[in-house]
Amino acid sequence: MCGIVGAFGVPECGRKLSLMLKSLQHRGQEAAGFATRDDGKLYVHKDLGLVDEVVKHLDFDLRLPGSVGIGHVRYPTTGDPTNRENIQPLQAHLTCGEVAVVCNGNLTNYRELRERLEASGSIFRSTSDTEVFLHLLQRAGGNGIVSRLKSVLTQVEGAYSLLILTPEGLLVARDPYGFRPLLMARHENGFMFSSESCAFDLFKATDRVTLKAGTITEVNAVGVATHTFQTSDYRRYCAFEDIYFTRPDSFLGDETVDRRRWRLGEALGHKNAIEADVVVGVPDSSNTMALAFAEKSGIPFRFGLIRNHYTGRTFITPSQVARELGVRMKLNPVSDIIEGRRVIVVDDSLVRGTTMRKVAELLREAGAVEVHARLASPRIIHPCFWGIDTPRRRELLAPGKTDEEIAAACHLDSVDFLTVEELRAALGDTDATRYCTTCFTGAKPVPEHEMPTV
Ligand code: 5GP
Ligand code: MG
Repeated sequence: MCGIVGAFGVPECGRKLSLMLKSLQHRGQEAAGFATRDDGKLYVHKDLGLVDEVVKHLDFDLRLPGSVGIGHVRYPTTGDPTNRENIQPLQAHLTCGEVAVVCNGNLTNYRELRERLEASGSIFRSTSDTEVFLHLLQRAGGNGIVSRLKSVLTQVEGAYSLLILTPEGLLVARDPYGFRPLLMARHENGFMFSSESCAFDLFKATDRVTLKAGTITEVNAVGVATHTFQTSDYRRYCAFEDIYFTRPDSFLGDETVDRRRWRLGEALGHKNAIEADVVVGVPDSSNTMALAFAEKSGIPFRFGLIRNHYTGRTFITPSQVARELGVRMKLNPVSDIIEGRRVIVVDDSLVRGTTMRKVAELLREAGAVEVHARLASPRIIHPCFWGIDTPRRRELLAPGKTDEEIAAACHLDSVDFLTVEELRAALGDTDATRYCTTCFTGAKPVPEHEMPTV
């Protein structure tokens, strides 16, 4: 998972992009990077670390000048996280000019594309699937960069929200199913682009629109033009964006993510059959859901778990021991609220079960007499190949287990989830045409007849 931003016709855009990207920091903490263009020259600045660390002491006027640019924050999922070659933007001198690219998503036919490209002479610098776009762009036929990009996008398969800094301006694309979010807004005489609308609010950018799946938006001195490269009857917006990833104050369409999380919590509260004394959330991502659950079930909500906001990335490490210590470092119960009580703990999702197991342990240590878990999403039974870090099947807790077995594995008195139908109803997708729910069902998101052939 990643976050991307862009600006066109925005003076001092380097500094502004860094602030926009900081508001998308939750989408990726491993690395951050920028590319701007000024007087025809491309400038790139990128490094491992948080946005603040990467731009510390940076002279923006000198290192990222101009009024057009792009930015990226990277989440440590695939590939070697310490490989600097993978930090975006990626840049290249193409015959159509020098370009830089950032992408949020995951190409599911990356291996095949890379093998094909390498077999015919391409030399890759990184292990990032985003690099494929550069190689394909160089080889694409067609008159002008938009038609080249169109032909590239008919060859790649998977989830991508893409920003390309070209000699003329920006090209902005979303895959035909719209797995990942991408929005545009006006800023004075220019335009801003972002994975989430919270980045626009900083600059009071107006006229926010969610870019259409299967389109390329071309922004240059002439204006803004939209080109459709593929149409589909289906949208496959990632349900996990609403459940966990996106900030609740961000909009998609006309609705905040908070409102959708509220409905998920309500659906869970509506079917509650457990008698308990207190509802607690696992901050921050489940706060809204826990409040809605409490309101619907009539059981009072209390801030029974306190989150330490300063633990940061040190604990986002791949090893299980570190992950367990991380949860203990990050969350601590308020014993007055927990002691002697029957507790319902609401979380947004259960992936490996690490968080829930630790939370149950912490709550029992603090004197809870019963601990019941309620999850505002369905059981995750399938890995994600479209950009969310839901790991290999064997690392997931839920597959093949009954609720009793899941509860036992996490030291819970009971556990319950939303069903896929309840999730769809809460997200306004009862006809199953808008959301990707592959991690909950295992069903392929894209219909076979719409899969591109390489
Ligand atoms: P688990 O601890 O079961 O492996 O993961 C579930 C917890 O991780 C939940 O509290 C949820 O808020 C959080 N979570 C869900 N998806 C992701 C993700 O993609 N990345 C990270 N870092 N946390 C996630
Ligand atoms: Mg969480």
